[in-house]
Amino acid sequence: MLGRLTILIGRVFCRLGFHNFKVIDSTLSFGSARGISTFQCQRCGLVYRRPI
Ligand SMILES: [Zn+2]
Repeated sequence: MLGRLTILIGRVFCRLGFHNFKVIDSTLSFGSARGISTFQCQRCGLVYRRPI
């Protein structure tokens, strides 16, 4: 029951835009100083990419 409640609260947070992002991939492009980090929300699975 507690786990289910946690999932429900997590979904509310995701709806509000507070995702639980975790770095799943980080690529550095050689020849350029910038790379791309890929984040994924551990709750809803949303993938987000951001230059480092
Ligand atoms: Zn999320």
